[in-house]
Amino acid sequence: MPSLYDIPPWLIRTFAVAFGLIWGSFLNVVIHRVPRGESVVRPASKCPNCGQPIRPWNNIPVLSWVLLRGRARCCGARISPRYVLVEAASGLMALAIVEVLLLPMPPETTLLRVAVVFVSALALVLALMAAAFIDLEHMYIPDPIPYGLTVIGLATHSLRDVGWRDAVVAAAGSFLLVWLVFGVLYRWVRGRTGMGMGDAKLLMVAGAWFGWKGAAFALMAGAVQATVAAAIALVVRGKIDEPEAVTREREEILAQVAAIEDPAERARAERELETDPIFETSPDGNALLRIPFGPFLALAMIEYLLVGDALAQRYLGWLAY
Ligand SMILES: [Zn+2]
Repeated sequence: MPSLYDIPPWLIRTFAVAFGLIWGSFLNVVIHRVPRGESVVRPASKCPNCGQPIRPWNNIPVLSWVLLRGRARCCGARISPRYVLVEAASGLMALAIVEVLLLPMPPETTLLRVAVVFVSALALVLALMAAAFIDLEHMYIPDPIPYGLTVIGLATHSLRDVGWRDAVVAAAGSFLLVWLVFGVLYRWVRGRTGMGMGDAKLLMVAGAWFGWKGAAFALMAGAVQATVAAAIALVVRGKIDEPEAVTREREEILAQVAAIEDPAERARAERELETDPIFETSPDGNALLRIPFGPFLALAMIEYLLVGDALAQRYLGWLAY
């Protein structure tokens, strides 16, 4: 059975970065198409501006964007730096996984185990990045991401020294806790929800992958970083804007309801709107300050994957049991 000993580290690094870059390119497709209800497989990539198909050699991760100076080859339209950012981050994350999780393994570790650790960890990081970017733009997280990651986490728990029971109980417990506290209790007391179901499902992922300690870390580190980011945004810009897509979605829904001809049916649709979180307002009538928490939960989980043991020992020693 070939082991880690048989492959030189430079080859592992090169392979991992290339693998990460290619999947990073796919990640851009997921982030753009999934919230729009489009297939991630077909059709092939098209220029978002003029609709011409993008040739594979103009679609090389990072390199194409740099060579074309951030513009489309076909029509010269500006291409969002998000694309190159996501690709570069995916390559870097793959390299970080190699350095932190793979190379420190004992040399006799079988290549099969090395590959499973790499692929599962990269799937976690990339899917969390997709969830973060989609949540930032659209204020929701597509269900297949947290459900898929929970299944992968439970299936690979033994690779991370997390007991099967701990993983299952922490996953279900984290979800129920957030749902009960923020979905039910907070709603009952304050009349509105504090965190979304998407956040509850992301915390379920943390439980399935890292047990109670990881879920507690994700919740706390996520909350601290979200608070710091909100404070910085308030200081720098004076206010926190909601994503444009959310404003647009609200206008579209209102237009649809206004277009309903039957008065009884329109009244029913208007009543339904009152329970839609997108229309919730604060007591002074303004739209609620909406900071998506998902990106910060995702960030905290990536931190826990890569530097969690050291951080948990330092700050969460009291949780050890
Ligand atoms: Zn074009």
